[in-house]
Amino acid sequence: CPFVQAASSFLSPSTPWLNHNWHVADSSSLCVTMPDVEAESSTQPEAMEEEEPLFSNLDLFLFTLIAGLIIYWFMSRKKAEPIPEFKKLDQPSPSTRETSFIEKMKKTGRNIVVFYGSQTGTGEEFANRLSKDAQRYGMKGMAADPEEYDMCELSRLAEIDNSLAIFCMATYGEGDPTDNAQDFYDWLQESDGELNGVNYTVFALGNKTYEHYNAMGAYVDKRLEELGAKRVFDLGMGDDDGNLEEDFVTWREQFWPAMCEHFGVEASGEDSSIRQYELKEHNDINMNKVYTGEFGCLKSFETQKPPFDAKNPFLAPVIVNRKLNKAGNRHLMHLEVDITGSKIRYESGDHVAVYPTNDTAIVNKLGQILGVDLDTVISLNNLDEESNKKHPFPCPTTYRTALTHYLDIIHPPRTNVLYELAQYATDPKDQENMRKMASSAPEGKALYQSFVLEDNRNILAILEDLPSLRPPIDHLCELLPRLQARYYSIASSSKVHPNSIHICAVVVEYTTKTGRLTKGVATTWLKNKLVADNGHKSTVPMYIRKSQFRLPFKASNPVIMVGPGTGIAPFMGFIQERGWLKEQGKEVGETVLYFGCRHKNEDYLYQEDLEEAEKTGVITKLNVAFSRDQEQKVYVQHLLRTNKEDLWRQIHTDNAHIYICGDARNMARDVQTAFYEIAEELGGMTRTQATDYIKKLMTKGRYSQDVWS
Ligand code: NAP
Repeated sequence: CPFVQAASSFLSPSTPWLNHNWHVADSSSLCVTMPDVEAESSTQPEAMEEEEPLFSNLDLFLFTLIAGLIIYWFMSRKKAEPIPEFKKLDQPSPSTRETSFIEKMKKTGRNIVVFYGSQTGTGEEFANRLSKDAQRYGMKGMAADPEEYDMCELSRLAEIDNSLAIFCMATYGEGDPTDNAQDFYDWLQESDGELNGVNYTVFALGNKTYEHYNAMGAYVDKRLEELGAKRVFDLGMGDDDGNLEEDFVTWREQFWPAMCEHFGVEASGEDSSIRQYELKEHNDINMNKVYTGEFGCLKSFETQKPPFDAKNPFLAPVIVNRKLNKAGNRHLMHLEVDITGSKIRYESGDHVAVYPTNDTAIVNKLGQILGVDLDTVISLNNLDEESNKKHPFPCPTTYRTALTHYLDIIHPPRTNVLYELAQYATDPKDQENMRKMASSAPEGKALYQSFVLEDNRNILAILEDLPSLRPPIDHLCELLPRLQARYYSIASSSKVHPNSIHICAVVVEYTTKTGRLTKGVATTWLKNKLVADNGHKSTVPMYIRKSQFRLPFKASNPVIMVGPGTGIAPFMGFIQERGWLKEQGKEVGETVLYFGCRHKNEDYLYQEDLEEAEKTGVITKLNVAFSRDQEQKVYVQHLLRTNKEDLWRQIHTDNAHIYICGDARNMARDVQTAFYEIAEELGGMTRTQATDYIKKLMTKGRYSQDVWS
């Protein structure tokens, strides 16, 4: 660097070799003055003989000049790099975040850690409830996201007296861990560490309609034992197809007394509500600092920066929104959102997640019934200063934004919400019933089942039907779960549509037993996303979730796709992709579709596209079951049975890949049974052998399901 060289030369006493050095420092702007320096310095030796000053005038001049330049350089450098003001939500910066849960537990006197593997928020909610419960039993707990901590430290848990690790583990998709538990799962598989002295228990969250029911919870339970940890309470099994809340409450009510006995502690009996967050109202705040629906950084919707994910969704403009069905009362829709310039990549079979917003009318009614100004700016601040989660949702914000964008006000509330709100009911009967519903007493369970679940009462309906109950809105906001993103199977191929993502969905709408019209939050919101809304582009906050639902690596393998109703969605992407492969000159195997709908003239989705694809040979065989066009129901599985010989050849001889998409509860199960029967009949197998045969196909990735409950 010429600058540094010049400076160091100057600080040396004035000697003849100085001249040589200036020549070395010959460059750029600094050296503009060099001829002068050279000229002057050449006269110096004589002057020195007379007065012998330590520094010449020239030296002092140059010293001042260079020092000035150094200072200027430092000052201007500082100005050029302003520090961004953005603050990550819910978490401290990585440098200040504690990744050692052991140290944190020690520092804060906690003995129970509740880890959660959570995809839709329920696992996290259960973990929070358990960690809060601990206080009632004279213990101290903390809920922890395994993604945020170093899980190798589990072996050190025994360093803490009377310690216990609880795991609330949800299973996602086809027996997979949730995103936040993936690393922990990998660690468990690879670890041969010793977990001696570690006490643990697991509560699994899943859905019986899925093939791999609670696979993740069961795995964690088994694996921890294999690694030497001690199971102090039996694995709990929560089934969302039945009543997950009831399963959890029942398990919890047996779990805590067992723990009290195990640790030799007595329940304090204190059943009062414990607030986790304190309310702060902001009366004089710069509105630029108030969250208006963003999930990560403030103003992230105004300044969109990739990469886009759950914390930083992309606002994709809606470019197509059309009704698919030709008749009938339902609204089946096809939506296309534009991802141009977003750098978002997707594959056929992936899911698109969208963040919906709640119905304005319901939000307003909540404000009215609770008598609050929804535009009040507030923060809910965690009373536990050590917690990584500072607020339950992005704060500061308004009640209106919280109820519109961040909180789930539509699902029937869980029993803990009713329990905590009971204290505000002025009618003792209401109070008693609400508390009863949170207990595991048969009478309480039955009341919750009928009053909340069967009658499908959301929080607004409960407030309307219990006039004595008027809780403070901030406590309600603390208790309601977060509004979750909704996942849809992408109905397009990125090979054909690299700049758009297609969605196929049916608008959910039904009347509850109490006569209230209930609308699906996300589908109603999507339906109203018109392409141009008063001249403005409608946008959808979205991101992509990768899936395992993939076309075979070899295009020449046959594919058998079974997708009645909106289950057709991912197959629109598959068909487009097979067509594209054909156009590229690739050898593409048989492409067989089994689609089902109610009436040919009503809800035959994408009829023209499908018939065209069959005409051009992209679909080699299009099979459609119209269930209600004749007296006897005809379903996709009936057509599978009709074509059993062809199917068996495709599967057994030609290595076909089978794909099922749509309803998990009945359709996917019935279709699987049809495949068992075909294997029995044409493969000469017993039912057990046929079941094993299909299981093997699943393990090899040749029988994949993308099913929804
Ligand atoms: P739908 O129109 O109600 O049903 C489609 C067809 O399936 C109808 O002909 C129906 O007949 C028939 N069916 C009913 N029970 C069946 C069974 N056990 N086996 C085979 N076929 C059966 O379907 P939808 O409204 O589109 O909903 C389908 C399901 O797929 C929903 O649960 C939805 O959530 C889910 N799903 C959605 C997406 C998405 O991305 N939007 C993707 C995949 C799946 P009948 O009604 O006459 O009995």
